[in-house]
Amino acid sequence: MVSPELLSLMPQVVAWRRHLHQYPELSHQEHATAAWVDAALRALPDMQVFRPTPTSVLGVLQGQAGPGATVLLRADLDALPIQEQTQLPYASVHAGVMHACGHDGHTAALLGAAHLLHAQRHLLRGELRLLFQHAEEAAPSGARELVSAGVMGGVDRIVGFHLDTQLPLGRVAVQSGAIMAAPDTFEITVQGQGGHAGWPQASVDPVPIGAMIVLGLQQVASRLNDPLEPLVLSITTFHAGQALNVTPDQALLGGTVRTLSPVLRERVETQLRQITASICAGYGASCTVLYERGSDAVVNDAELVKRYRQLVEQELGESVLMDVPPEMGAEDFSEFLRHAPGVYFLVGAGNAARGITAPHHHPRFTFDEEALTPLVQLLVAGGFSLTGEASSEARLRNGPASLEEEIR
Ligand SMILES: [Zn+2]
Ligand SMILES: [Zn+2]
Repeated sequence: MVSPELLSLMPQVVAWRRHLHQYPELSHQEHATAAWVDAALRALPDMQVFRPTPTSVLGVLQGQAGPGATVLLRADLDALPIQEQTQLPYASVHAGVMHACGHDGHTAALLGAAHLLHAQRHLLRGELRLLFQHAEEAAPSGARELVSAGVMGGVDRIVGFHLDTQLPLGRVAVQSGAIMAAPDTFEITVQGQGGHAGWPQASVDPVPIGAMIVLGLQQVASRLNDPLEPLVLSITTFHAGQALNVTPDQALLGGTVRTLSPVLRERVETQLRQITASICAGYGASCTVLYERGSDAVVNDAELVKRYRQLVEQELGESVLMDVPPEMGAEDFSEFLRHAPGVYFLVGAGNAARGITAPHHHPRFTFDEEALTPLVQLLVAGGFSLTGEASSEARLRNGPASLEEEIR
C-alpha cells in the first residue's frame, strides 16, 4: 500500500528527476550532479554526507531505534554521450549528453527514499548508507573506486536497482543467481611482415590471418562450449593497412566476451588465446593477446532475493512479480557484491500506450515516471527491513567515526 507520505513526496521526486534529466553529465564528470545531491542530503538533519570520490556522494543515516545491520542502497548518477531526440520539455540542455539509461530516475528515487527513511529514523535500526555512484557507464568503473575509498567497510547487505523500459510499467523482477554478465575485453595484435602488395611471397600478410582469427573465434561460442550456457564473443574492431598497394605490418582486432559462469569465463579466455596463437603460428605471424577482466557477473544472493520478493508481495502485491531471463549486458554493481551479499532488482518503466518503448541508450529513451512510485516504495521497505535484523556477521558499529576513517 502506498503511504500518504510517499504519495505527497512523489511530485517532488518527479521534479528532481526532470531537473537531473535537463542537466546530465558524463561519467567521471558528474560535478554539478554530485554537488546537487550533496546539498539535497545536507538539508536533512542527522544525515551525514561524505564525498568518497570527487563526483560521488554517500549519505549515512544512523537508525535511532537501536542496533541493527548496515545496509547500503546504491543509485548511479551518470549520463551518456548521446544527443537527445525526445522533444521533452525538460530535455537535456547539454549538447551531446543525455540521461538515456534512467540514472536520473535512480538518483531522484534514492533521494526520495532518503527523505522518507530520514523522516522515520526514530523507527530505523542499524545504519543506512545511501550511495550515489559516479561512472556506472564507464570503464574503469566508479564502483571499483568507491570500494577502494572504503564505502563497503562494515556493510552487511547491499541493494541495487534499475528502471527497465523493456518491462511493463510497475512490474518487478527479483531473481536469484546470475542476472547480468561479466564483461571482459580483449585486444589482439597480429604481427606480420609488411611489403609490396604485388609480392605476397615476400611478406607475411596480417589481414587474412586476422580474418581467420575472426572466423576461428566464432567457433568458441558455436562449437566449443555448451549451447545452453550463456556466452557472447563479439569482435567489434578490426584495423589494418592504409594504402591499396602495401601489405601492412600489423592487424589489430578487439572485442568483448560475456559470460555468466566463472568456470566458462576461464575456459573461454584459454580457448581464445589458443586459437589465436595457433592460427598465427600456422601462417608465420606472431600474436599478442591483451585480455582484460571486467567486473564479475551480477549474482543475487538467494536469501536476500527471497526476502525482497516477500517485500514486493507485501508492498505491491504478488501479481507485479515477473521472471526475466538473465541478460548479457553488465553492471558494475558486482564490484560491491564482492564485499557483501546483495540483491539487484528491476522495476518496469515502459508503457506502450504512452509510446514509451525506446530501449536504454537510445536517443529517444525515456521512462514512465509512474514507475518511480513503486521504486521509492521498495527502497524504503528494503531499507527498513534489511537493517532491522542484524546478520550473523553484522558488527555493531560505534557510530560514524569508523566510517570517517574508512572514507578518506
Ligand atoms: Zn546504461
Ligand atoms: Zn544504467
